Amino acid sequence: MDDLGELYQQVILDHNRRPRHFGKLTAPSRSAEGHNPICGDHITVYVRTDGDQIAEVSFEGSGCAISRASASLMTQAVSGKPAQEAEKLFRDFQAMVTGDPAVATGAREVERLGKLAALAGVRAFPSRIKCATLAWHALHAALSEAGSVSTE
Ligand code: ZN
Repeated sequence: MDDLGELYQQVILDHNRRPRHFGKLTAPSRSAEGHNPICGDHITVYVRTDGDQIAEVSFEGSGCAISRASASLMTQAVSGKPAQEAEKLFRDFQAMVTGDPAVATGAREVERLGKLAALAGVRAFPSRIKCATLAWHALHAALSEAGSVSTE
């Protein structure tokens, strides 16, 4: 487990300890479950949309530090944004953590991803990529009203 040490940066530790937007929304218009059977992460994402806008977003569930921190960072990143912009962030985020060199090395992209860039380190740990993208897959499923998603 020592080689995972690098992943546990301050931002990740902080979001794992004190996840933002944690808990069920009182009146979600959409939700979706995400399950990562390899690690055992299980996250439900709740969304309240206002037209095409993500008015509120939250998550609950259990999982490893990476999946929790990523879900927390995701809720911060997409809250109040148009759904289309959230989907674009998802694609950029996925490209970053899977090590797509076109995105991974672009300073402008990393800047646009903001705090999400804290998770860039997972690209060195292929088994953790699904932990980092789980909440995003669940968000995507919620926005497209798919209900549930498994990363397997
Ligand atoms: Zn995990």
